[in-house]
Amino acid sequence: MKKVALIGNPNCGKSSLFNALTGSRQHVGNWPGVTVEKKTGEMKCNDKVVKIVDLPGIYSLSAYSIDERIARDFIIKEKPDLVVVIVDTTNFERNLYLLTEILAITNKVVLVLNMWDLAVKSGIKVRLDELKEILKVPIVKTVANKGIGVGDLKNIICDAVNGRIEFVVAQSIIGERVQKKINELANFLSCFNLGLPNVYLAVKLVEKDPEVVSYVKQSKYAGEIFERVDNIVAEIEKEYGDDATSIIIAQRYAFVHGVYKEVVEKESTMESKISLSDKVDRVLTNRYLGIPIFLLLLYLTFKLVFGIGNPIADWLNSGMGWLSTHTGD
Ligand code: GDP
Ligand code: MG
Repeated sequence: MKKVALIGNPNCGKSSLFNALTGSRQHVGNWPGVTVEKKTGEMKCNDKVVKIVDLPGIYSLSAYSIDERIARDFIIKEKPDLVVVIVDTTNFERNLYLLTEILAITNKVVLVLNMWDLAVKSGIKVRLDELKEILKVPIVKTVANKGIGVGDLKNIICDAVNGRIEFVVAQSIIGERVQKKINELANFLSCFNLGLPNVYLAVKLVEKDPEVVSYVKQSKYAGEIFERVDNIVAEIEKEYGDDATSIIIAQRYAFVHGVYKEVVEKESTMESKISLSDKVDRVLTNRYLGIPIFLLLLYLTFKLVFGIGNPIADWLNSGMGWLSTHTGD
């Protein structure tokens, strides 16, 4: 049975989407040995059944938390036929970081821009064609809790698992020179049959990911491998004058920031205020309406001053009169 993994930051709408895709065909359990909830369900593509797995919500594929480890182990070891990366569109930049890490492992990825309703409401515009051009993955916009776009997503999932979508390699996310060194290392690693995707191992070894390091240390070729890794890390660090882990992470963030700048337009509240005051200005300074509006405002000011001012003056007067009669010895 084909497997599809749903992955995304916490609260991006992953469970809503999972429910919408699988309906009542769900199974809830625990991941073996831990109490993190494991939800699997089924979705139909015509007569074929596809397995959908709701992975824990995570921000990145480092292995600092058990949730992160579960999610990344699933993608690396179970090799799903498709990874659906779900993004909260109102938080586009932060949410997109995870995608850059997933794309280092697999290019069989579909990007879901969820919370599209809230994005529209808060003035966020995403240029989808450009985004597609940059990331080279299919993109679907959804409002998961209302089922909007879920049909489109189902169609794309079915097309993908049936081989009707050609997934291509995305443009390099990490800077070209670093990526070249990582590819070199990946090529070298491919001689050793380490059992995990070589590009993933290469990048994680350069990042000194503790779990991947200890995994590779079990290989009988560990000596040779780490000698090569150390050389490459030294080359990168010499060239950039910083440690390799920071360089790679910074380059991913730079990529995400670049994409954000390129494809997302946010009508900020400041801008909308300016455009509102522009509109008001345009009416008030209009050649024909300007003077009448000015006179009207003048008249209203007079009305205000005498209409409200007079009674207040009267109250004050009588108040003062009362005070003077009661305090004057
Ligand atoms: P998860 O943590 O990623 O599993 O997110 P959930 O599916 O639990 O969703 C978090 C909250 O966002 C819930 O209250 C959902 O009803 C709501 N939600 C999910 N998708 C959307 C959406 O597209 N638009 C809006 N407005 N709310 C959504
Ligand atoms: Mg959830």
